[in-house]
Amino acid sequence: FDIRDYKPTGKERDFENALRPLQFEDFSGQDKVVDNLRIFVKAARLRAEALDHVLLHGPPGLGKTTLSNIIANELGVGFRVTSGPVLDKPGDLAGVLTSLEPNDVLFIDEIHRLSPVVEEYLYSAMEDYRIDIMIDKGPSARSIQLDLNPFTLVGATTRSGLLTAPLRARFGINLHLEYYEDSTLTKIILRSAKILGVPCDTEAAGEIASRSRGTPRIANALLRRVRDFAQVKGSGRIDLKIAQFALEALNIDRYGLDQIDNKLLCTIIDKFRGGPVGLTTIATALGEDPGTIEEVYEPFLIKEGFLKRTPRGREVTELAYQHLGRSRWNEQKT
Ligand code: ADP
Repeated sequence: FDIRDYKPTGKERDFENALRPLQFEDFSGQDKVVDNLRIFVKAARLRAEALDHVLLHGPPGLGKTTLSNIIANELGVGFRVTSGPVLDKPGDLAGVLTSLEPNDVLFIDEIHRLSPVVEEYLYSAMEDYRIDIMIDKGPSARSIQLDLNPFTLVGATTRSGLLTAPLRARFGINLHLEYYEDSTLTKIILRSAKILGVPCDTEAAGEIASRSRGTPRIANALLRRVRDFAQVKGSGRIDLKIAQFALEALNIDRYGLDQIDNKLLCTIIDKFRGGPVGLTTIATALGEDPGTIEEVYEPFLIKEGFLKRTPRGREVTELAYQHLGRSRWNEQKT
């Protein structure tokens, strides 16, 4: 059950969509981000203008797609979804842009994966609501300018470090999503359980929350699996006992750490005596890119107190040793 780069498809996706809040009101957590967005949305509505372009960055599953959907709903405009890898050629982008109604929201997921040519096209679209397209080939080829309806681009990325400066500069609103507190995840789980029509005790929701890696997508996915256990092994109600039983059976880590988290911590312990060790050295040992480690893998481990950034490099903490059942290097020697 590896959730990190998991994008739900088929039934899982229907399930996610069913649980997706449609208004700010139903979106829990990320208070600062939401408070700001409410104001910007209200102001854009008052002026009957397109909202400024919005960049949402943060780890997967924290609600970037959900928020952009809410933005469109609260603006009372249409919502179109696409993603960086899907917009392969400038023509793909032109097709989407020319189909937008005034003030619509266009959501581009994984915007750091746009090809450089497509990105170039996006610049004038974002700035002047205008694109140049080439028509004809060979000697009669010429470019014509197309006016677009004003629109709001909402870009989402897990790797804001990979965005080019010119693209980044074209977003008027730039917001970072943080991992959720367990208490907020508990609320989200109780809301989801209600929508699913499955009774769930608060302590049980808290237990699922604490193992959800600060991530609503994981919380909802775990809830779905715990529900199966409750229906087959229990009375249908999710109580603490059945939640604990199910999470054990599913082999879910007590702190919600996944394989990659464990691998990162174990590598620092086994190969670098627990650190301090430099980021690039860790990256080489893991066969990963340093940016990915810094932006995607580390933040949760640091937030939860498993890893520290020190002036001399990364260092695992006592909690990591305890949790992984390892002893420190100097203790191993004796
Ligand atoms: P992202 O686009 O950041 O990867 P999504 O917006 O697709 O994440 O969210 C994943 C799932 O988590 C969705 O089912 C969504 O309903 C749920 N979710 C995310 N954030 C919240 C929130 N703050 N409150 C309630 N549900 C949330």
